[in-house]
Amino acid sequence: MRSDRIKIVWIYPDLLSTYGDQGNCIVLERRAALRGIPTQTVNVRSDEAVPVDGDIYLLGGGEDRPQILAAQRLRADGGLARAAQYGSVIFAVCAGYQLLGTEFGGEEGQPVEGIGLLDIRSGRGERRAVGEIVGEVDSALGIPKITGFENHQGVTHLGPSVRPLAKTVVGVGNGDGYEGAYRDHTVGTYMHGPALVRNPALADLLLWWAVGQELQPIDDSWAGRLREERLNSVLT
Ligand code: GLN
Repeated sequence: MRSDRIKIVWIYPDLLSTYGDQGNCIVLERRAALRGIPTQTVNVRSDEAVPVDGDIYLLGGGEDRPQILAAQRLRADGGLARAAQYGSVIFAVCAGYQLLGTEFGGEEGQPVEGIGLLDIRSGRGERRAVGEIVGEVDSALGIPKITGFENHQGVTHLGPSVRPLAKTVVGVGNGDGYEGAYRDHTVGTYMHGPALVRNPALADLLLWWAVGQELQPIDDSWAGRLREERLNSVLT
């Protein structure tokens, strides 16, 4: 954290916010506030420069064309790459996840250059993956199962310098038995939209990284009930 508040930067709501992704900002703001940590959220439209002094950057999902445009503009801007070098936290969902890689599939499946922040490469799968997803999270991250909803055509291959976020228990994820990827404080996932609502421990991990220290526990009974309900209906 660079100041007395966590600066959350929501990248390109005009292109990458098809699936209620703003929910992730709201969850982070709320969970920080419950610990008495102030936040400031900045929405950066695709015709604006990406500030490099953010603590947490959020990228959402999007359709193929907005995704291509977002990748081109982020590459040209360079701000997100600089922020990643400074150790900022990045959490990217679906189209946002794919475009962090070196390459992803365009609307006709053509390869499109990503911004190269994660060593992943995505192409077009044979079938669209739509439905619930549950994953057993990489043990190094120390958080419980992730639960979410996926809706994508892409399949993602992970290179040696990233780790899978989770082993897929239900759903398709990257298409190779794993879901998402991370390296340092950059995390990508196929869990759609407001993924952090169902995964408060993942939200807290991002906040922890941003503030540089473990957060005090809060009453999570409502979030816990939502999680249990979804996990029970999917896993039974
Ligand atoms: N266009 C990408 C795909 O279908 C991402 C879709 C999304 O964000 N839901 O794989």
